[in-house]
This record gives sequence, structure tokens and C-alpha cells, in this order.
Amino acid sequence: MERTFFFLLIFVLSGQITFGQKSFYFDGKEVKPKTKQHFSIPIINGEDSTLLPVSVFNGIAEGPVLGITAGVHGYEYPPIIAAQKLIKSINPETLKGVVILVQISNPEGFSKRTPYLNPQDGKNLNRVFPGSNQGTITEKIAHFITQNVIAKSDFFLDMHCGDAPEDLMSYSAYYSNESMPAVSNKGKEMAVSLDYDHVVVFNTKGKKYMEKQEPSLYCSAEAFKRGKPAVDIECGRLGVADPQLIDKIESGVLNLLEYLEMLPASGEKQPAKAPLMITERHYVSAKHSGIFYPEKVSGEYVAEGMKIGYITNYFGEVIEPVYASENGIILLIIGTPPISTDETIAVIGKVD
Ligand SMILES: [Zn+2]
Repeated sequence: MERTFFFLLIFVLSGQITFGQKSFYFDGKEVKPKTKQHFSIPIINGEDSTLLPVSVFNGIAEGPVLGITAGVHGYEYPPIIAAQKLIKSINPETLKGVVILVQISNPEGFSKRTPYLNPQDGKNLNRVFPGSNQGTITEKIAHFITQNVIAKSDFFLDMHCGDAPEDLMSYSAYYSNESMPAVSNKGKEMAVSLDYDHVVVFNTKGKKYMEKQEPSLYCSAEAFKRGKPAVDIECGRLGVADPQLIDKIESGVLNLLEYLEMLPASGEKQPAKAPLMITERHYVSAKHSGIFYPEKVSGEYVAEGMKIGYITNYFGEVIEPVYASENGIILLIIGTPPISTDETIAVIGKVD
């Protein structure tokens, strides 16, 4: 008896026993406490196949599971490169709980430089959740992420930026619904901890995708519908891998981990200042196809009726002046020349 106790004591003192944290199983494979492990998950549909790169960090002590996706849109490079940096900056030896990080959710979109879509089946991964095991390759990717990341997480973060043609103002966002006040409020606090000047509220009241029998469509909406606090990062413009914005995403995720008490407080940071809350978004659409000339950039304030750009035909004649539909801040404006009828030209956020 005494002898057993003695050996137990030696084990504890030498750090061989980690109290509280157990092995974590990802897709049936073990990730031991205090380690990180990388997985290349084959997703196959007939002739189409891809390898989904996922990193799993298992900490030293018991704690929540945070699921993170990058590269749901493969041309959105800043979150993808920030995720590469997080491989080194999330240290499993100081972590409580587990982080599941999907490095590139749409690997073929990334490698083939394809905005919005997976070139294998022409589908937008962020419109097919929860996905299907019987579907096309994009639907199978969504299904894998739903089952192995979202369903296993307590909290969820999906990371995006302005895609190839999108001049976007950086912000964090959270899903909200008055029927889920605790989950919504936790999401709000998570979004604030990501440390952006603006936080957009995704108010899901009355949205069809929130109905139980309807598909969630969006990656983080799937998490929210399952009762998990869900946030998004939108940071970066035109897909450009801007080093400053990459660092901003990385530090935001580390702040979130501190807020969730999964990483110890670093104590170096300034207290986060209160962000501006954006409660409504208005969409300005093109009435013609042609060439768009923006006269504003993302982040500029506009008043209703103010000109924000114009469209010409292919002979240089102006066929449509484009005006702001509301007072607010430009969250997104098309930043490259092509434009087609009914496409969104700009998104204007109403600041509270
Ligand atoms: Zn995106």
C-alpha cells in the first residue's frame, strides 16, 4: 500500500500523470494529452478526391473543445496562413481542453485558386451544411466537418476574409437569436474577445435555415443550431495574404483562447476597447452587367443616396450610377471590374 502510494507520488512529481486530461479521439484516432497531431483526411467521391488537413491540439488539463475552420473559401488566404501560424502558437503544454483546427476546409479551391467554390463540383462549401455522406465531394467535406469538428465542439469559430473580388472591412461576428439568449450572449463575448473594432450581429430571427427541418447552409450556423456559441472572423480583402491582417487573425484567436480560459492570460495586452456593434446589413445590387468603378472603399461611412460608384458598358458609357441604400459603413464593396446583373455590389452596415 505504502509502496504503491510512493510510486504514484513519483509519477505525479515527474509529470507523468496529467490530472484531468485524457486522450482525445479525432476520427477514431488518439491524440494524447500535451500533444498536437496532424491529420490528412481522405474525402472521396467517385473520381473526385481530396485530403483535408486538420490539426488537433490536446492540452494538459480538462477544458472545452474549440472547433476552428479556415479556408471554407479556398481563395481567402489570410485565415489559411493565420491557421498555419497557429500550429506553432497554440502550445498544447499550456492549453486546457482541445482545439480542432481545419487548416483548409476546401483544399481544391485553395490549390486551384478558385474563389467561392470547390472546382471539383462547382459548389460553395458555405452553402451546403450540414452536408451529406451520399452527396458530392463538397457535401461530403461538409458532412465530415459537421460530424467530426462541429458536433465535437463546445464553441465554434469559422474564419473568412474578402474573397477575390471583395474589398472587405475586417470584423468579427456572432450568431444571435432571442430564443437562445445564453448561447447568443456567449457568442457576443467571444466575438468581442477576437478584438476587432467592429462586431457584426448575425441575427437569425425568422431565417429559414434556423428551422429544424431545413439545412443550416452555413458552417457556423450548423454549430449555432446545435446550441453552440458560434463566431466568424472576416479579416482581409481581395484574398490578399497581407502579413498584418494574418497577425491580426492569429492574435485574435489567441485572445479568444484566453477568454475561454483555455490558455493562461498573457497579461501583456491592453484591455480590449468596446467595439462598434453592427446590427443590420443592407445589400446594394447591380441592375446591369458591365464594368464597375468603385468610388468608395470598405470602412468608409456613407449616407443614403450618396454615390459609391458606377457601371459602364464595354464601350465606356455609364449605364448605371450606384448609390448607397442606407446610412452606414461600407462592410464590403466589389473591388475588381467585372459585375453582373443582380450581383451584390456593396454591403452597408448600420452602426448602433
Ligand atoms: Zn468566405
